[in-house]
Order: sequence, then C-alpha cells, then structure tokens
Amino acid sequence: MADQQDLMELAKRRGFFFGSNGAYGGTAGFYTFGPEGASLKHNVEAAWRDQFTLRLGNDEIEAPTIMPEAVFEASGHLDGFDDMLVECAECGASHRADHLIEDAVDDIEDAEAVGIERVGELIEKHDLACPACGASLAGEPVEDFNLMFETSIGPGSGQPGYMRPETAQGIFVEFPRLKEYARGQLPFGVTQIGTAYRNEISPRRGIIRVREFTQAELEQFIDPEEDEPPLAEVDDVEVTLYPATEQNAEDGAYIETTIGEAVEEGIIGSPWVAYFLGIAQGWYERVGVDMDRFRFRQHLSGERAHYAADCWDAESEIGGNWIEIAGFAYRGDYDLTKHGEHSEDRFTVFKRYDEPITVEKAVVDPDMSALGPEFGGAAAGIAEALQELAERNPDAFDEEEVTVEANGEEYTVDTEIANFAIEEQTESGEHITPHVVEPSFGVGRTVYTLLEHGYSEDEVDGETRSYLSLAPEIAPTNVAVFPLVSNDDALVEVATDVSRTLRQAGISVFYDDSGSIGRRYRRQDEVGTPFCVTVDQDGLEGDSENTVTLRERDSAAQIRIPVADLEAELEAIFSGEQTFGALRGRHGDVETDVTTA
Ligand code: AMP
Repeated sequence: MADQQDLMELAKRRGFFFGSNGAYGGTAGFYTFGPEGASLKHNVEAAWRDQFTLRLGNDEIEAPTIMPEAVFEASGHLDGFDDMLVECAECGASHRADHLIEDAVDDIEDAEAVGIERVGELIEKHDLACPACGASLAGEPVEDFNLMFETSIGPGSGQPGYMRPETAQGIFVEFPRLKEYARGQLPFGVTQIGTAYRNEISPRRGIIRVREFTQAELEQFIDPEEDEPPLAEVDDVEVTLYPATEQNAEDGAYIETTIGEAVEEGIIGSPWVAYFLGIAQGWYERVGVDMDRFRFRQHLSGERAHYAADCWDAESEIGGNWIEIAGFAYRGDYDLTKHGEHSEDRFTVFKRYDEPITVEKAVVDPDMSALGPEFGGAAAGIAEALQELAERNPDAFDEEEVTVEANGEEYTVDTEIANFAIEEQTESGEHITPHVVEPSFGVGRTVYTLLEHGYSEDEVDGETRSYLSLAPEIAPTNVAVFPLVSNDDALVEVATDVSRTLRQAGISVFYDDSGSIGRRYRRQDEVGTPFCVTVDQDGLEGDSENTVTLRERDSAAQIRIPVADLEAELEAIFSGEQTFGALRGRHGDVETDVTTA
C-alpha cells in the first residue's frame, strides 16, 4: 500500500497535483492538476463519458456554475446543505464536529448520522481537544454551517447567486427544455461533467476533500410506475455490498453477491440503483480501481441527503480508510416537484394512455351576470373557488347554498348560480412528475484512488523502483520514446520519426532524450506510462533487423520488435485486441537490457 506522504510527494514532484496559489501562501482546499494529473483526469472523464453518456445512450449538457438564489431555495440547499461546525474558543480554528468524533471514537464511523445534538454531547463526553492548539472543545456550541459559496450577480447586492454545490441542479432546472429534446419520452438520462463548489469546513487529505472539484453526474428520469432498468445486463456482476443492516449489526459483515441476487433478496431496494451499481462496478474495474479495495455501502438513515430516499456509496480504501468516491441516490420526484412549485414552468411530462379514457368530472359554469353585481371585484375569485370546490367535494352542491373562500374572505353563493354539473370528458393521458435516479461521481477522488491503488514498488536490476500501474486507457501518456543516447543524430532522427508516426495514429507520446536510459525509465514508471520504446543502433535503417526495444512498465520486461510493426502492435494492445504478454510470447525477452548495455 502506498504511504500517503510518499504519494503526495510523488504527486507534486511528478506534476499530478499540488496545492494552489503557493506563491501567495496557498489556499486550503484548492488544488491544481499539473501536466500529468490534468491528462489523467481528462482520461478518467473521457472513460466516464464513454460509459455513462455514450454506451448508456444519454445526452450530455454543460450548464453554468453560478445559479440564482431561487434555485437553491427550491432545491433545499439554502436550508439543508450544512455540515457540523465547532470552533475553538482558544485559537479560532474551525473543525468538522462529526469528523472529530469519527477520529476519536472507535465504534462511530459516520457521526453525521447520529445528529448534531448528540455530536455536541459526544465532544463533551470524550473531552475532545482542538487538533490545532490542544485546547478543550467541550461545551463549545456545534452549529450548522451552510456549505455554499455565495456571490452576487451583477453590480450591487440585489441578486444573490451561489456557486453550484452539485452539477445536478443545472440539469434539473432545465428539465422543461430537456424533456422536449427527449421528445417527452421517459425514461431518459442527462449527464454533466463539471465543477462543483463546497465551502468545506476543514478540507483535508489532498484532493479528497476540497472546496472546488469536478463531478460527473447522470440524472436518469423515469416513470416510477412503468420504467424498469435493463437489469439483465448486470445480473451476474459480482459486488461487495455493505448494507445498513450489516453496519448496524454487532458482527456486521460484507455481503459478496451479484446484482441480480441483491435485487431479488431486497438488499438493494431500487432496481434502478442496483442497475447503476452494476454498471459502475464494471467501469471502476475498467479504469483500474483495485476491486479488492472497493465496496458499495448503503447510507444509514440519518446520513441521507435531504432529497434521497435510498442511497448507496461507492467507496474505495485509501491509506486504511474508506472514502466515498461516488453516490447513487434514488431522489424520487423531490427535485422536479420543488422546481415545479417554486418556478413558473412545468416539471412534468405528459404520459399518454394506451387508449383514451372517459372520466366523469364535476364542473361549474357560474352565471357571471348574477355573480358580478352581487360580489363585485371578488366575483372572478369566487368563480375559481367554486370550480375547486366542485372537484374536491361535489356533494356540497346538493345544498341550496355553498360557501367558498376567495382572497381570504368567505362568500355564500346560491347553488343555482354556480350551474354545477357532472360531465363526461375524454382524457388521452396525464401529467406526471418523473422520478430521478442519480449516480454522482467525484472525478478527483477517482483520480486519487487510481494513483493510490496503482502505486507499487519492486526491485528491478537490484534497485528499488516505484511505479504507477495505471490502465493504458487512463495513463497520462501512452508511450515514451527515447533515443538510446542524445548525441547520436541518426538515433535521434529515428526516435523522432517513431514519435511522429505514433502520434499520427492517435497515441500520446512523450519524447525524452535527457539523462541515462535507466533514469528515463524510472521517470516514466513513476507517471504510469505503460510502454517505453528505445531506439538504439539496431533501429537504424540498413541494419539487418531494424528493431527497437519495447519495454512494459509493470513487468519491466523488454522485447525487440521491428520498427515497422510498432504502430500496429501498440494499437492492438491499446484497443484490447492483444496483450503485451502475448506479444512477449511471440518475440521473447531481450537478452541484454539496453539500460546496462
Ligand atoms: P455528494 O453529492 O456529496 O454525494 O457528492 C458526490 C460525489 O462528489 C462524492 O461521491 C465525491 O466523490 C465527490 N465530492 C463530494 N464532496 C467533495 C469534496 N469536498 N471534495 C472532493 N470531492 C467531493
């Protein structure tokens, strides 16, 4: 397992990521991805897009990151998107109260679930100290702290805005338009990869808890009564589950099962959530997460977000801790209903019946020539209230008079004036509010997991080396190309040529002619480049074999292959058509290592 310190050091030294704004003293919770990290992150996003947008047949959008206050009033984030804050009276440092408990109390893994009052009591009971200065925090108030960054839109303070705390809202607020693009047909899914902002109380562990991060989210809109996921596709996918019941049990254990069985046995309640867990399992495996250090954990009831009916997290094990890398929430109709209530637009879809149906409907047709003179300006309101009453309680119109409320006042109306009737009407469908199932991935946390799970050390030629065993699809660079020595023009020319040819074929190439070959290999091993090509004398035109050395990162094995075959062989490896092992079998390892040649 990678030492966290070593990994952070490697991340900085090799240009994966580092704390931002160092020249100005640094800003906690903000990280810059360097050249290797930006490329790695981009590849993770591309693989996610390939699976969750392309292969699942969804649409992708890109919405603004700043949204007006009304959006977050509707979504509930202004009221409920809080973490527990405790401040040290002595030194003024701010801490996540629930994290202090998790760090100090052995049997509490998720203190958020126990509630804010109990967290305050536990701080007192265990007499927890401020991690910054050591002063006691017992008795300090624990408060809700809203995590959204506030800003103002335009000059002045008239229009408050917020940096979105999740990309999801950008999809929800555009639902009235997005459903048109989907021809009003459920189910359909919309994805978005973009930045989210959370003013975390205490950012920590490198890029794992930061204040600005990238999410990759899918909002799947479904008709809860009709739409079933294609579960057969993931029936046999094997997963490690840690359901709430097991977390609450004394001797709780993981359940090793398949998606199909988990649904059948009711371990995962929603088939849609189960479907996405199955898809995600395959995706994490594809990008190179160590599946022995991976699990799906169900949220405990106190832990669920304000919108979620059921929620599972994908968690990876990092430095001995489990961290959430994605959340899978059944959000029900919460979001669309809220935006429907708070906005002017319609957040429903029209669901057409197979056959039109005839329904009996209570209607009124008030005689305005009587209502007007009697009630003046209130007449229109009264007419509306009569229709509402007819729908709600048609029996009321059996009496001679009915009483309705309009504009806060009660009015009694002669039933005859209302012209009440039961009419038969034909309806071709109804407006329904879709339910939402949301897989939400943290891109930075995935990147970190890949670095940590891919980090390995071994002995090569009597020396300890560290390397990143990244999947070829994800590695920042596909191939490094070296001339054996930099002062031989002929070698440099062939190596430059090879680089150009591979680049033309869409393979990303890093050309390096500085330092010893051993050093160059080590540098590429550390950034996870799957293959290195070294051009020596045998690669020159005119030589009988005209071959180069191809070295694979994890095994450090080297084979010689003809320059002319290089592009095709590498393409076959990257597309999954062949393995390096097979190629090695065909060519045999080189006897003399060019490093020591
Ligand atoms: P949530 O909406 O809290 O379920 O977050 C969805 C995903 O975003 C999580 O599974 C994380 O991978 C990621 N995420 C949430 N908060 C942070 C953060 N402060 N820093 C980095 N990633 C985060």
